Amino acid sequence: MCYCLVSLGTAIAMAVGLRLHRPAGRAIWRLLACGQMMYVGGDVAYFTATAGGDTSYPVLANLLYVSQYVFVAAALVLLGRRRSPQRNVAALVDTAILTVAAGVLWWVFLIHPAVTGPGFSALDRVGATIYPIMDLCLLTVAIRLLLGGGARQRSYQLLLTFLGLTLFADTAYALMSLHGVYEVGGWSDAVYLTSYVALGVAALHPSMRRMAEPVERRSGATLYRVVLLAMATSTAPAVLIVQNLRHDESSDLVVVTASAVLFLLVLTRMAGLISAQRRIAMTDGLTGVYNRRFLSEALRARSERAVRHGGTLAMLLADVDHFKNINDTYGHPAGDQVLREVARRLRDTCRGTDVVARFGGEEFAVLVTGEVPDGLPALAERLRERIAGAPVLVDDGTAIAVTVSVGAAVLPGSASTEELLIATDAALYAAKRGGRNRVVTSDPERATPTGSDPADIGPADIDRQIQRWTTVVSESLRRHADDPGVPASMVAGVCAAWALMRTAGPGRPALSAEQARAELLRCRGVHFHPRALDEFLALERAGVIDTPETAAAPQLAATLG
Ligand code: GH3
Ligand code: MG
Ligand code: MG
Repeated sequence: MCYCLVSLGTAIAMAVGLRLHRPAGRAIWRLLACGQMMYVGGDVAYFTATAGGDTSYPVLANLLYVSQYVFVAAALVLLGRRRSPQRNVAALVDTAILTVAAGVLWWVFLIHPAVTGPGFSALDRVGATIYPIMDLCLLTVAIRLLLGGGARQRSYQLLLTFLGLTLFADTAYALMSLHGVYEVGGWSDAVYLTSYVALGVAALHPSMRRMAEPVERRSGATLYRVVLLAMATSTAPAVLIVQNLRHDESSDLVVVTASAVLFLLVLTRMAGLISAQRRIAMTDGLTGVYNRRFLSEALRARSERAVRHGGTLAMLLADVDHFKNINDTYGHPAGDQVLREVARRLRDTCRGTDVVARFGGEEFAVLVTGEVPDGLPALAERLRERIAGAPVLVDDGTAIAVTVSVGAAVLPGSASTEELLIATDAALYAAKRGGRNRVVTSDPERATPTGSDPADIGPADIDRQIQRWTTVVSESLRRHADDPGVPASMVAGVCAAWALMRTAGPGRPALSAEQARAELLRCRGVHFHPRALDEFLALERAGVIDTPETAAAPQLAATLG
């Protein structure tokens, strides 16, 4: 009687909670309340049948009990969908691993003994099979909810408590019945009652309003989860050992099959993690386009293909104009938003086969693959127009006008990737010097822009040239498999020294290339990193390093300060 009152009270508490708090996802609470009513109905049918002296298995009561599970499971599936609307394969695989592990335990210690043991009626056997299966379904949706993450409101915690206690009491009841030690009104019944009180309080607590709100998706690979999965995957082998010690081989086939399934699930999970890591390793965190590392790989692959099959190498470099001013005027977060939007527009304008990458701070590269129908300059112009065409709207509604300068270069397939970078960068450099917000396509005959008055070359230009050489030499070093990693600052030191020596200063002439090489070699291993120096000299001899005949010595001295 007390039992019926408590479970009925829980159903009433849910109806009151629904009216009082009007939560999101009302269907969830309605389903839970229906489940609870089934349970009350089951109890009434059970007590009526047994009070009337009917000793046969109360079929109606059991049907009602079983339908409670169906309602509760449906409510939990709905809740899981609302909390995590996106598909989350990793969480599904984890849930499957934990469910299979629990299934092994249930099968070996509950279902199999009840199904094969002596002295059970056919209906007893059906009951002994169906309840653990229902529990397993409930456990599956409960695990899925637990792994979904997000804020756990008080009401949500109470709902999980209800599930945990119900599953625990069900298992205890099944084990006690199996071994003939169950007594009506014992401690397991007290656990059931407590679980219903928890469910009733969950429905009345005001936090039930927010329980079904979508939660933030978690990465899922926490240490806690790895430990949990390790324990789950060890379950099947552990059970096999225990059964062997008990000289019971009756479940071996099921346990071995479960082991194989667990193994495949773990492999699936690993494959997912590897592909997620790969994606992270090749993507720029801020803008979502490829990163510099991936661009280098793609460039090398493209160059090798061009050498083998002929064809050309084509690349664009787009640099946001006066981006420092954008940061200074609107703040760094707005600057970040501008970068994200520029990247998005570049990706939208390019074809799916082109590699759009963040080359550095506010500089993007496009490795163009295949033929561009109307030519590379037209593509570059489209990119420039797309970015200049509309201001970027940032969070606070401010519209920021953004332009880019674009350098484009097409070289024969026989050219090295360094030469392509040099040519593209030189074109970009020319676009900047030409006034910005424009496209310049490289002249393959002459990598450095000419026609400018040397006196125009300022510290920023020389700095850019040093950066360019540093990039090229570092790229080249990285291509060597045995590269132990030469810091970019070491490479920059060599480049800066070269620029200083090759430029006339106040009261001193510029050194010739021959003299500058000898000076560098004299300091090899003393002031300069030997590998950085050797690589620089090799590229310089190959004609990849160009020296501007600049008259801007005082500015250069200031730059190198
Ligand atoms: P120019 O037209 O000559 O290219 O001028 P610029 O101001 O764009 O070029 P400069 O190289 O002087 O400045 C680039 C700035 O980009 C400096 C740096 O603080 C900023 N920057 C680099 N990376 C990021 C980033 O991830 N986010 C933001 N907000 N700013 C960045
Ligand atoms: Mg810029
Ligand atoms: Mg830049």
